[in-house]
Amino acid sequence: SREDLRMAEELARRAAFSVDNARLYREAQEAIRLRDEFLSIASHELKTPLTSLRLQLSYLERHLPSSAREQLGAKLDVAHRQARRLSQLITLLLDVGRIVTGRVSLERSAVDLTRMVREAMERLRDVFEQSGCPVTLNAPGPVVGHWDALRLEQVIVNLLTNAAKYGQGRPVTLTVREDDGMARLSVRDEGIGIAAEDLPRIFDRFERAVSVRHYGGLGLGLYISREIVESHGGRVSVESHPGQGSTFTVDLPREAPSV
Ligand code: ADP
Repeated sequence: SREDLRMAEELARRAAFSVDNARLYREAQEAIRLRDEFLSIASHELKTPLTSLRLQLSYLERHLPSSAREQLGAKLDVAHRQARRLSQLITLLLDVGRIVTGRVSLERSAVDLTRMVREAMERLRDVFEQSGCPVTLNAPGPVVGHWDALRLEQVIVNLLTNAAKYGQGRPVTLTVREDDGMARLSVRDEGIGIAAEDLPRIFDRFERAVSVRHYGGLGLGLYISREIVESHGGRVSVESHPGQGSTFTVDLPREAPSV
């Protein structure tokens, strides 16, 4: 009947649609895989010449005749700093490659979170000064757990750098707390905030809010931070309101989960 024919047509249309969707999905996955693979190869290739460049710079610095030091020392300093910055960016890209392929392993030891946060504040003193954001730390005292110190430092530095970058010169408040078997770090700023529609995406790799295009950045810090925290069995969350600021919270079990 005409009705049967119409139904058959509708079914055929739906089947074609889902075949198309499956194909699009496969193609998108493949494109993502190729992008990650390219990044991983490119960052490895960039690393070698850059390492050599940095060694040469150090050599030049050490062997600069004192007569030329005054004139050239500052230039060499700048070259050194920029090379270091480049090297940090490449390390970030290499990290993403490692994370995507599941090659991150943790080296746990007894670590005091409060102390790590204080040290990161110290290390980022210039960054906070330039941003104009006054930064304060509330902590009850040492909060010790078994974590990978270098990886944890990466997380803290990422969150603090973001708070300074997006904090619009307003106060940044860091809080360290402990509760039962958990440690908690929260980083609160009163800056630009994040639109509700961007919130679910900011932890994905290469994702950045549309409103921050002019700030510069790769959109990798939060991705890496979340992976590090989750590989410790913890969780990162965010609460934010545009124009009012953001609070990022890291919850970490103090001990490795027993397996
Ligand atoms: P990047 O800062 O290099 O862009 P991140 O992965 O650290 O990359 O952050 C991803 C995005 O999340 C940022 O581009 C920005 O849109 C948003 N974001 C992160 N931290 C903050 C913050 N403290 N305030 C407002 N937006 C933030």
